[in-house]
Amino acid sequence: MTKYDYDLFTIGAGSGGVRASRLAASYGARVGVAEEYRVGGTCVIRGCVPKKLMVYASEFGHAFEEAKGYGWSAEGVSFDWKTLIANKDEEIDRLNGIYIRNLKNAGADIFESRAVVKDPHTVHLVKENRDVTAERILIATGGAPWVDESVPGHELGVTSNEVFHLEKLPRHVVIAGGGYIAVEFACIFKGLGAEVTLVYRGEDILRYFDRCISVQVHDELKRLGIHVLTQAVFTKIEAAGGDEKRVHLSTGTVLDADLVFWAVGRKPSTQGLGLAEAGVKLGKNGEVMVDEFSKSSVDSIYAIGDVTDRVNLTPVAIREGAAFAETTYNNNPQSMDYAFIPAAVFSQPPVGSVGYSEYDARKKFGAVDIYKTDFRPMKNTLSGSQQRTMMKLIVDAASDRVVGCHIVGEGAPEMIQCLAIAVKAGVTKKQFDETCALHPTAAEELVTMKTKWVPNL
Ligand code: NDP
Repeated sequence: MTKYDYDLFTIGAGSGGVRASRLAASYGARVGVAEEYRVGGTCVIRGCVPKKLMVYASEFGHAFEEAKGYGWSAEGVSFDWKTLIANKDEEIDRLNGIYIRNLKNAGADIFESRAVVKDPHTVHLVKENRDVTAERILIATGGAPWVDESVPGHELGVTSNEVFHLEKLPRHVVIAGGGYIAVEFACIFKGLGAEVTLVYRGEDILRYFDRCISVQVHDELKRLGIHVLTQAVFTKIEAAGGDEKRVHLSTGTVLDADLVFWAVGRKPSTQGLGLAEAGVKLGKNGEVMVDEFSKSSVDSIYAIGDVTDRVNLTPVAIREGAAFAETTYNNNPQSMDYAFIPAAVFSQPPVGSVGYSEYDARKKFGAVDIYKTDFRPMKNTLSGSQQRTMMKLIVDAASDRVVGCHIVGEGAPEMIQCLAIAVKAGVTKKQFDETCALHPTAAEELVTMKTKWVPNL
């Protein structure tokens, strides 16, 4: 019998923390888990899952219009925000219940409390005002939206924490940022009927994706009627009576809005957790510095997921959690492989991407061959929609290996999930060419691109 209350105490019951805890418990570890908000974490409670439900909701806004070209009449359709939010909340409650049940069924104890690290083997449960001890502590507290507090009136804006609980559908939304959340919510609000302005500090939104994705999504946002203002940041936000706010930009432009939305990134949630005091080394954004097995600078303290600021995606946190549990409680050392992680942006149309951007591939491999196509998908012929699909393959010229695949278009995330298997396994362009097309699909273009693409410089 060990001298500790638990073998493992996990702080944070999001995707990563829950996976690590369940798996550790299944291998016989005595596990405690503390969560200060709701079991399920950002992804389930106020991130990927409710966001995707809202994406589906907003897509209907365009679908009713587009159905007319196929003979449907869709007169007098209306949208009710309260119904969407209530149904979304019900689904999130259901998932929250499943997460709690799964943890309990695995034998873990759940504490609905903030927990802070007191020393390398002690956690203080704030709500219960008591300490528990553990042989190992796992930090899985994720991240939180960041707001530029130097902007006067910044508190008049909301973040992705609040946006899922708005009382009513806003009429005019002004969003700061040009990353995942800014782009996804610009499309969501536009599809639901709001006027949307995106204010981005740089030139190319979705900057860390292949440039063809940035350009294509930028064009599609404009096609949807979203105003995209680049090279601009908020300088001041003022209350303008009722729900109205006035947003001042660095360019001198002034925008009126009833919703101002900060989507300028997230920061690891380590503030006030007692980590530095316990000897845990933190990085410049407050992230927990860990080795390949997710161990921190303190032998008994580990960290997984967004709090380590490695690759901030749910499936990565889940795999890091699983690798930790396998290594520590199943005598099966594993570390996360970060190569060729697929990514999606649920814009309209959505983005799917795996592997190197053209820019990064040229730096890494030198000579690369590019194959690119851009077309109006068949569905949009009768619908009248001008939305286009872009597909791009990046091939290492020396080995013929496909090292990057980037798609903007309906179904892109679904295509990329499947393509990621082949790309990770080392598929060559020749093997793409040898694969028979499936007709009529948009995806068949992936195996029929024969001519190397040369950009118009
Ligand atoms: P991102 O990192 O995606 O984007 C942040 C945006 O804010 C960038 O455009 C950035 O500009 C801009 N920005 C940063 N600092 C400032 C500043 N001081 N003033 C003005 N603009 C600024 O963050 P998000 O908040 O959109 O999303 C957070 C994370 O959540 C993502 O990185 C991703 O890991 C995850 N996520 C994943 C999703 C998915 O998988 N579909 C969906 C939603 C979130 P610049 O480009 O110039 O740096």
